[in-house]
Amino acid sequence: MPNNLGYLHMKVSTVGVIGAGQMGNGIAHVMAIAGYQVQIHDIDQGALDALPSRIAKNMDRQVKSGKISRDEKEFALRRIQITNEIVSLGHSDLIIEAATEDERTKQKIFDSLLPHIQNHTILTSNTSSISITRLASRTDRPEKFLGFHFMNPVPVMQLVELIRGIATDQETYDICFEVVESLGKTAASAEDFPAFIVNRILMPMINEAVYTLYEGVGSVEAIDQSMKLGANHPMGPLELADFIGLDTCLAIMNVLHDGLADTKYRPCPLLTKYVEAGWLGQKTQRGFYDYRGEVPLPTR
Ligand code: NAD
Repeated sequence: MPNNLGYLHMKVSTVGVIGAGQMGNGIAHVMAIAGYQVQIHDIDQGALDALPSRIAKNMDRQVKSGKISRDEKEFALRRIQITNEIVSLGHSDLIIEAATEDERTKQKIFDSLLPHIQNHTILTSNTSSISITRLASRTDRPEKFLGFHFMNPVPVMQLVELIRGIATDQETYDICFEVVESLGKTAASAEDFPAFIVNRILMPMINEAVYTLYEGVGSVEAIDQSMKLGANHPMGPLELADFIGLDTCLAIMNVLHDGLADTKYRPCPLLTKYVEAGWLGQKTQRGFYDYRGEVPLPTR
């Protein structure tokens, strides 16, 4: 529990998640399995309605592979509460914002949260690229603000990047580090520069794959096959872009381009065009592949 300085020294037991998209779903899932009480909020009622069956289905996979028992699944599901009111997250010890990758959206979320949270509440963002220092500076607690960056799919991927803003204090980092360990995951510490470690390296590779397609060097299938068989990547870069979400990929490239002011990070115009078309990848059924049939078919 917090001491009378409102300082941390606490064990996290309640976690608030904002955004019930693919990442929010996964974060609620792993937190509940690890024993945390979870409240999850989204402005899209459809996303909230779909959440219980989506998480149950993903947990079923873990039951099947023997990772968790049927009882663990049932108890975990009961630990997740869904809310369309952000105020309900006010009592959380730790809040993880996992809404759309857009700075204004994230700022508005933190603005609306601030009047309702407790002194000891730690605020974090699952952002893939946006400055933690800048997000933190608009809150009343930059020292209790951290980047908490899960990988997709959350229940499967081992890494969590922890990103300190300029003002983040050691205690906040340590508490979040312990939370990562309690999930059975591994934390990597990254400095607060655009896109941190994983996406600083991964996203330019994906963007280059889109340029390779744009310039006609290879077809969608040839590019993905080349990187799978030629570089031993488990997924081709265009398939991976569809999985991440093309809007998220474009947003990250824009943050890299703006933040580092280097033309090598210029988003490929073809990536922009797909996003303009609303073809965002798997989540909208169309991206570099069309997912509406039995098997994914390349769209170019
Ligand atoms: P998504 O599009 O699947 O989901 C985003 C959700 O945020 C949607 O359900 C949307 O309704 C909700 N949302 C938007 N505005 C909101 C608001 N004001 N209040 C509450 N909810 C709001 O996106 P995602 O892939 O889950 O990404 C979410 C975050 O996680 C982004 O910051 C992204 O960069 C990061 N991230 C994504 C990946 C990935 O592979 N997709 C990996 C790591 C981190």
